[in-house]
Amino acid sequence: MSMALKKLEPKTKMLSKKLEGKNVKCLACHRYCTIPDGNAGFCGVRMNEGGKLRLSVYGKPAAVWVDPIEKKPFFHFLSGSTSYSIGTFGCNFACSFCQNWDISQAPQEARVREPAKWKDYFTKLVDSCPELPPEQAVENALASRSKSISFTYNEPTIFTEYAIDTMKLAHKKGLKGTYVTNGYESHECWDAITGLIDAANIDLKAYNQRFYTELAKVPHYEYVKDSIEYAKKKGIWVETTTLIIPGWNDDLKELKAEAEFLASVDPEMPWHVTAFHPDYKMLDTEATPPEILVKAREIGKMAGLKYVYCGNVGFGYSDYEATDCPKCGKKIVSRMGFSVRESHVVKGRCQFCRTKISGVWE
Ligand code: SF4
Repeated sequence: MSMALKKLEPKTKMLSKKLEGKNVKCLACHRYCTIPDGNAGFCGVRMNEGGKLRLSVYGKPAAVWVDPIEKKPFFHFLSGSTSYSIGTFGCNFACSFCQNWDISQAPQEARVREPAKWKDYFTKLVDSCPELPPEQAVENALASRSKSISFTYNEPTIFTEYAIDTMKLAHKKGLKGTYVTNGYESHECWDAITGLIDAANIDLKAYNQRFYTELAKVPHYEYVKDSIEYAKKKGIWVETTTLIIPGWNDDLKELKAEAEFLASVDPEMPWHVTAFHPDYKMLDTEATPPEILVKAREIGKMAGLKYVYCGNVGFGYSDYEATDCPKCGKKIVSRMGFSVRESHVVKGRCQFCRTKISGVWE
């Protein structure tokens, strides 16, 4: 007789609230889904089973890899190190341009293809992934000589309890934790990860609601701005990223307003302006010309941001992904794609003029 495997369950309390009847409210992101018994929230992975919220992807990552930290991208956080990276299925956004749509949009795709049986189909998909309990994730991260664990590839907010359980163990072993996130976390979520997640790269995908509504199915992009401010207040190291898509978020006035907002939060917070390449439902949109990124970088600098980087542009643009000392102007970190070629940051200071360079360097 075969015995069913016991499912992994979070040790930490789920970000949820019981409602009347067997409904539950999920508290992880600003959608605050009310989920009836037997259903899932918008992200498709947080499921109400008998009046209790369950995280279907707990300990079941869809993608695990060891990446350079620069790939996330983080340029001022453990520069030159690798990060043990974990992602699951699902997302609380539905971006038409997602580069990881095969995992992030798996529940949404299943809902479209098999409306009546999508949960069975999706559960089988999750069950086909190998288990990775938090203890094992930490062991693997240490064996890979990574200095951090990143929750990335899809939106970590939706699997926060898995990240929390992992980081509670990882911190004890000296590993730091990062979120690569769309910034739609609720304050309850940010509060829960404070002290466990050390750095966040938050996407500010655009500075207009039309982009968020039409391309990402997100009703209130103001919450993303709030997240940038709130995460900073919580003491988390924050870098931000804007993927520039021609015709959607490349208006120069808008980029100026965006840069001014970021500079008002903290002029030392790095801003990555990165190139779009046609993907998923936006195969007919042209790739971002590198000149637009160079212009956006100039706009960011004019707005007072000290560190603005162009990304996804390939060879020939390495000067635009280098760090220059804001005081003496010397190049202090040279990069080529995701690799650090040369660094003159010593104990968090410019080796030439001793100016403090914001970030977490050791
Ligand atoms: S994480 Fe967001 S989208 Fe998913 S169930 Fe919770 S509130 Fe809804």
